[in-house]
Amino acid sequence: MSVVVDEADVRTRSRNENVDHYIKRYVSGSGHSAYDCAVIAGNGIGAQVFAAQLAKHPRFEGRVTMVAPPNNESRRLINGVSLRGLAADFIASALGTDHAGLLAQIAAPGPAPVAHRQTAAMAVPDGHHWRFTRTGAWQGGRRGRAEPIVYGIRNTRLVGGISELLANRAVTVINEKVASRAQLRSFALGRNPLLVNATTQPTLLGGESAPPRRMVLAVQVPLITTASGPSAPAQHDTAIAPLIRRDGTIDVGYYTPFSDPESPRSTWYGIIARVVNSDSGFDKQRELDTMTDELYGLAAAMGMTPDDPEETLGRCCVPAAPWEKTAPSQPGTLDLKRMYSGGAPCFYADGMVSAAIGGVLGAEAVARGDDPDRAIRRALRRWRRHNFLWWIETNHIATVADYLLRISVPIAMAYPHSAGIRMWRSAA
Ligand SMILES: Cc1cc2nc3c(=O)[nH]c(=O)nc-3n(C[C@H](O)[C@H](O)[C@H](O)COP(=O)(O)OP(=O)(O)OC[C@H]3O[C@@H](n4cnc5c(N)ncnc54)[C@H](O)[C@@H]3O)c2cc1C
Repeated sequence: MSVVVDEADVRTRSRNENVDHYIKRYVSGSGHSAYDCAVIAGNGIGAQVFAAQLAKHPRFEGRVTMVAPPNNESRRLINGVSLRGLAADFIASALGTDHAGLLAQIAAPGPAPVAHRQTAAMAVPDGHHWRFTRTGAWQGGRRGRAEPIVYGIRNTRLVGGISELLANRAVTVINEKVASRAQLRSFALGRNPLLVNATTQPTLLGGESAPPRRMVLAVQVPLITTASGPSAPAQHDTAIAPLIRRDGTIDVGYYTPFSDPESPRSTWYGIIARVVNSDSGFDKQRELDTMTDELYGLAAAMGMTPDDPEETLGRCCVPAAPWEKTAPSQPGTLDLKRMYSGGAPCFYADGMVSAAIGGVLGAEAVARGDDPDRAIRRALRRWRRHNFLWWIETNHIATVADYLLRISVPIAMAYPHSAGIRMWRSAA
């Protein structure tokens, strides 16, 4: 008798075991939840992953409600596109699917939009063109890892795809904007609800919020390549970070394989992000225009052209969260988004992985009677630290970082970027 082992199943099992390992490591508790239901404001990745994970527990089955305006999908790239492999592990595990099931819901049919290695180079303006310093790999070496390191997908499709997969679960969805704590509570399906804030409004449930000290500017667009793919230094199966030193700060570029059913011609996408101090008097419009020129210029230098930018180009200026301590959730509430957010979004591809890990661990802590604030903050401490270190490199020692990157990308990116590969790649 021969036993056929499905490699995809083996990988999914390893990925799920890794998620369980995180839960065991960061969540303990009495095993008895103080709540009999949960009402969540918001429907982003963090909210939906939290809902899916909580609804797995018999005490909460049929007693989880999500309240938010409907996810309006368009081709425009708003929010994050680079989904770390580890984020896909957590999302798929919460939804009871695997990477293939998730991709079938969110990507166009065809090759998976995946990178198995990551490279970087300094990008230097040269007249109307760009030239690149020597490219080096900082994850995946020459040949690439077996595990997916990063997928490129449109965020609103990911949110929509998760909703579709969540529709099979016992989660009630209310399409309304939440205006107050009392309104959110009115949707509770039990007597003792946990009220969860997974929205972009930090004070929605009465929590504290300080004005952001830093903002992140970002521009991103899907890209069309020629039939043979992009040209050097971009490479097949590889994400590349072209870095531009400008006015004492590094603008972080990131180009990676991409797929969107609504932009089927695009097989890559690119983003440029820059962190600025809120009180620096920066000219938002001028910065975004400069960064859009950089985005298009680097794309052209690598043989790529923007795909219908009037419909797809995303330009934004969003607040960064503090890296340090954050105020605790008020009794009876969980400020979920505040707990899993840490540092500058957009420029280190870590927002979605934080939302996914925060969603799973937060739900497990609630179900097991542990403190979700503590479980989430502890689990994500390393992600906040790496985000902070990247900010130091790009905003405080940009000249040194530029110098080292020209000498050797693997040396310049050794810590925390190469060392932190387990915080990027899928577990299998
Ligand atoms: C330009 C850009 C690029 C980025 N790039 C990356 C990247 O490459 N990789 C990565 O991992 N991350 C990236 N990020 C960060 C990433 O997009 C987010 O961290 C991620 O999408 C997680 O979102 P979320 O689930 O926390 O919530 P969000 O997607 O912010 O969802 C919040 C939800 O709350 C809802 N809401 C708001 N107010 C209310 C209300 N009053 N009542 C009810 N609902 C409400 C909104 O409708 C929204 O759906 C990027 C972000 C930006 C802006």
